[in-house]
Amino acid sequence: MFVDKAKIKIKAGDGGDGAVSFHREKYVAAGGPDGGDGGRGGDIIFQADDNFSTLIDFRYKRKYVAEKGQNGSSRNCTGKSAEPLIIKVPRGTLIREANTGRIMADMSTDEPKILAKGGMGGKGNSNFATPTRQIPRFAKPGYQGEEFEVTLELKLLADVGLVGFPNVGKSTLISVVSAAKPKIANYHFTTLTPVLGVVKADEEKSFVMADIPGLIEGAGDGIGLGHEFLRHVERCRLIVHVVDVSGIEGRDPKDDFRIINQELAKFDEQLAKRPQIVAANKSDMATEEQIADFRSFIEKQGIPFFCISAATTQGTKELVKKITEILDTLPPIKEYEPEPIPQAELDDMAGAGKKFEITIEDGIYYIDASWIQPIMRTVDPDDYSSLQYFQRVLINSGMIAKLEEMGIQEGDTVDIDGFEFDFVY
Ligand code: GDP
Ligand code: MG
Repeated sequence: MFVDKAKIKIKAGDGGDGAVSFHREKYVAAGGPDGGDGGRGGDIIFQADDNFSTLIDFRYKRKYVAEKGQNGSSRNCTGKSAEPLIIKVPRGTLIREANTGRIMADMSTDEPKILAKGGMGGKGNSNFATPTRQIPRFAKPGYQGEEFEVTLELKLLADVGLVGFPNVGKSTLISVVSAAKPKIANYHFTTLTPVLGVVKADEEKSFVMADIPGLIEGAGDGIGLGHEFLRHVERCRLIVHVVDVSGIEGRDPKDDFRIINQELAKFDEQLAKRPQIVAANKSDMATEEQIADFRSFIEKQGIPFFCISAATTQGTKELVKKITEILDTLPPIKEYEPEPIPQAELDDMAGAGKKFEITIEDGIYYIDASWIQPIMRTVDPDDYSSLQYFQRVLINSGMIAKLEEMGIQEGDTVDIDGFEFDFVY
């Protein structure tokens, strides 16, 4: 079964917990704290894989959880970070955050993408010793891993999309110009799965053609099968509109042409404006007049016209040649950029107007604010942009201003929820 939409939950691993432990040796009464930090939780990583062509697996398994980082242990041993969980998807899968619809990643290239970050490990008690607190009997738990509900949507990557009514000969065409072997039969809806074929134009040039299941009237309104498949034409650079010029099924090719274009426009205005050429098929069964009449109708609209017979391969070479020429002039296949988290949501997360308390103990500035926990768990001290964001949170929430008011000096230690850093201007 071909499945091209799915909704799943992903959760990165939680960080391991920090350890509470004290150094012990024979004849040494009480050693210092030596509880190590927890390890980082595993990330959730997506990877495009050409061995997959549908999202069917995600219909059965809907929750993906990466492992927790190992807990810290004595002798200042840091727990091991957990391995990432790698989720393989067909190339061309678009990942969106389910509740906002925001695009998180387009899995069109080989580049693996981290969609949920594992939580930082908690600090072990060895981090909390101060001159007056020599026996810290506490450690911090690991931070939670990021968690999202995401939708997966397969949008095939093809240069050329074949569209047209059922039974006009789309599958036959792709089977004669490429190595693809779709089902061909004389009844409607034989093609229930989009089929990709690589068309070799000559020694150097080739392009990818997609055979899209037949569109039927009303497809743009979501009636019938066609609509489900229109998204696979969305990225195509060129549409080859296949029309049965013989009218053997009792329809008028001009009507067919108009109806299909209306359906495309209903689905997406942009799709209707996509460069298009017409392949008038089954010319072996058509009269000269039928062909001439349809040709002038199409050419009057400034659309390139090709008369072919897919069954006998008449005219298909010329069609392929023209497609190659046109593709040379067109921009590459569309890749979707990840969409940022909306500013309002960011501001809200960044703590504008939120409450906090600061206390000074042993010269350390402890900031207490429960709302900051989800932010803290995503802060990556090794990542510049992550630290920048963290800094914005500190400024937006008024923490920096408050610290300065309390007389903080450069180099003093600030502790937020166990995360300690030196204050710098
Ligand atoms: P699709 O539904 O658009 O994919 O159409 P198919 O490729 O499955 O073809 C539907 C029927 O039309 C099949 O019986 C084909 O053999 C036939 N057909 C396809 N191309 C031609 C052609 O150029 N001439 C003739 N006479 N029949 C064709
Ligand atoms: Mg077909």
